[in-house]
Amino acid sequence: MRPEALEALLRVQTESYGNPSGAHLLARQARRVLDDAREVMAAALGADAGEVVFTGGGTEADNLAVFGGGEPGGTVVCTAIEHHAVLHPVESLGGRVVPVDARGIVDLDALAGALDDRVRLVSVMLANNESGVVQPLPDVARVVRERAPRAVLHTDAVQAFHWVDVATLARDADLISVSAHKFGGPKGVGALVVRKGTPLRAMLLGGGQERELRSGTQNVAGIASMAAAAEVTVATRVDTVARVGALRDRLADGLREQIGGTTESGVADHDRSHKVAGSCHLCFEEIESEALLFLLERGGVYASAASSCASGAQEPSHVLAAMGVPRELAQGSLRLSLGWPSSQDDVDLALEVVPGGVAQLRKMAGALR
Ligand code: PLP
Repeated sequence: MRPEALEALLRVQTESYGNPSGAHLLARQARRVLDDAREVMAAALGADAGEVVFTGGGTEADNLAVFGGGEPGGTVVCTAIEHHAVLHPVESLGGRVVPVDARGIVDLDALAGALDDRVRLVSVMLANNESGVVQPLPDVARVVRERAPRAVLHTDAVQAFHWVDVATLARDADLISVSAHKFGGPKGVGALVVRKGTPLRAMLLGGGQERELRSGTQNVAGIASMAAAAEVTVATRVDTVARVGALRDRLADGLREQIGGTTESGVADHDRSHKVAGSCHLCFEEIESEALLFLLERGGVYASAASSCASGAQEPSHVLAAMGVPRELAQGSLRLSLGWPSSQDDVDLALEVVPGGVAQLRKMAGALR
């Protein structure tokens, strides 16, 4: 966690424990903390304070958007690389799924083809959690406004906020999801921006908090902590992207150089300009990532293959499949994520441990043949 976020979490939890829906002094104090956090999140996301709905994380924000966004009736549309928090709700509603190209960027012609005036919601993520690829949201918005005039546009900006100016890049979206733990805040806290006039049906009914859009007593300390993390993230973003982007390039270039049979997902030559700075995603031929992750952990490198799911099981990546990566190659995928605290030492360690792990697995596979 960002130290500023941890400090806010502990301070608010101990000093402002009132219920923000109450009327007495302690409740009003908590209410003020909540209002301040709402202002900070609104500024960070390019919204008005009255457009921010606090949620219990990114999954809840995504589900609220997909199930509740737009005029009732009509169909929903998303891309094939969405996080399961969007993809599964869209599939459960019998929605349409739009393909991406080999770089992992949405096919705008296919998107146009999937739209008509019966579509109520389109969801296109801003940055992908596996590949790190950023989608051209202004172009997406243009297509959506032209072809599906009734639709509201949702973007899952959960993986984007750490790295890109969401206020600018998502300015055309009607609904925007973020999650605090992706930018140095606590887990289980997020927000959905709901632009004025956007139709949205609540999923959680009860006490009517968050302007009737998300009932339930707010996690005031978590929300204040998220706002503290967001404030530092925005203030330092340009420097973080430059510093961490250089670390990521050294890591990706170094691994590609040291390990033969390596493909960098969605990257042609060494052009990573369409990816967020913290994402290094590689596929190694002739290995299985599950075994590699085990060796990496022993060497102090904590990585994942596809997305982290609740069971911890490594499932084949729907993102790589959508990008046309063959299944055998996708089986050897490795997702190394960098963040604001990442250092040269971290990269040095990964540059030592990953090639050793891959070499060991290939040697074992060779011996068995
Ligand atoms: N959307 C994306 C792109 C994500 O990467 C994640 C989490 O990894 C989520 C949604 C879900 O967010 P949360 O874990 O806060 O529910």
